[in-house]
Amino acid sequence: MAEFSLSLNDDQQQIQKWVHDFADTVVRPAAHEWDEREEFPWPIVQEAAKIGLYGWEFLMNGFSDPTGLTLPVAIEELFWGDAGIGMAIMGSALAAAGISANGTPEQVMEWVPQCYGTADDVKLGAFCVSEPDAGSDVSSLRTRAVYDEAKDEWVINGTKAWITNGGIADIHVVVAAVDPVLKGRGQASFIVPKEAKGLSMGQKYKKHGIRASHTSEVILDEVRIPGSFVLGGSQRLEEKLARAREVGHTSQKQPAMATFEATRPSVGAQALGIARAAYEYSLEYAKERKAFGRAIIMNQAIAFKLANMATEIDASRLLIWRAAWLSKNGGFTNGEGSMSKYKASETAVRVTEDAIQILGGYGYTREYPVERWHRDAKIHTIFEGTSEIQQLVIARAISGLRIE
Ligand SMILES: Cc1cc2nc3c(=O)[nH]c(=O)nc-3n(C[C@H](O)[C@H](O)[C@H](O)COP(=O)(O)OP(=O)(O)OC[C@H]3O[C@@H](n4cnc5c(N)ncnc54)[C@H](O)[C@@H]3O)c2cc1C
Repeated sequence: MAEFSLSLNDDQQQIQKWVHDFADTVVRPAAHEWDEREEFPWPIVQEAAKIGLYGWEFLMNGFSDPTGLTLPVAIEELFWGDAGIGMAIMGSALAAAGISANGTPEQVMEWVPQCYGTADDVKLGAFCVSEPDAGSDVSSLRTRAVYDEAKDEWVINGTKAWITNGGIADIHVVVAAVDPVLKGRGQASFIVPKEAKGLSMGQKYKKHGIRASHTSEVILDEVRIPGSFVLGGSQRLEEKLARAREVGHTSQKQPAMATFEATRPSVGAQALGIARAAYEYSLEYAKERKAFGRAIIMNQAIAFKLANMATEIDASRLLIWRAAWLSKNGGFTNGEGSMSKYKASETAVRVTEDAIQILGGYGYTREYPVERWHRDAKIHTIFEGTSEIQQLVIARAISGLRIE
């Protein structure tokens, strides 16, 4: 077991500084432009690839840190720079995490690098779970995968909704029902390369925030992929389905859930980065801005808001670091992963709203970044498990009861 420590080791400190410099000099100056354009920020992702921040080696290095803290520390800095661009850089990690959680070691080595490409030829990954009628309720997926024994191919049909990098990714990791009667236990994850016939992009969503991140529907129409593209392999899938048929479909465990559990501290760290950006900005502003002949921070109403922001941000970081450490050292027992994502997401929404209040009318305009941070923060209470779903996970973990 790695020791839990609140002081980062030398490697972590170096990574923190390196990502912060990139966020400060490259990401933040570009944030407004890409938010307005609502387009995927290819030049910035390419810059990130050139320095090794966008790449499978960086991600795998983070995954293999025994303290678990490297990734949340790096992600906090990146999202401090900008959340839309941050998601464009981190979006492929969800696909990589889906492959790592469900694939064989050989599949991980084969497919994770293909979610990133190289610095000269950047590729993207997408993790496709949600559907128009199945978001929180991932056990009800309608996308079907049927095995065609004669050709040793899987045939996939369905529509995926709200997919980060959907349709522009080179590798789509698609979660589909193999045996719908078994609900979540009858699902499997598949690799669908960009070239697969029948794979296409549906509507591209126009969003409230993280507008530099691409989010689209993904249509799968009679998509055929080789039999070996099922993550974990056919034999393991058959064994899993046989076990599930024996016990029935009462268990809710499913491949998508395994991925989301593992990535929750990282999603919390995204929200934390946004909250810290808004807090730092509004603290400086409150010291400068004068009203009634004195700096507005000299009023308790403003100073206490800032005191609360600082307290909530630190509390969020402590929960994230604990969850990140536990994810590598013994696992979650009381819903700690969900606690970290829930707390940081709600904190980010509140802190960014208070930041707008502190900036007054200026805070409400697009000339200042705080309204963008507020829009960007909100997604964190929705994706990768809404705040209500996090509360459900925590409630079930602390009570041992199947709370509905
Ligand atoms: C920008 C963006 C990017 C996304 N990226 C991806 C991606 O890359 N891959 C992917 O697979 N998905 C992605 N999603 C989908 C996202 O994970 C879902 O939107 C989310 O899980 C919520 O599902 P839903 O929208 O269907 O809401 P619903 O499940 O319909 O929920 C609606 C409301 O009901 C509440 N609710 C539902 N069930 C319960 C319950 N049992 N108890 C209490 N309250 C409940 C929810 O909390 C929510 O407030 C993305 C979404 C967005 C907006």
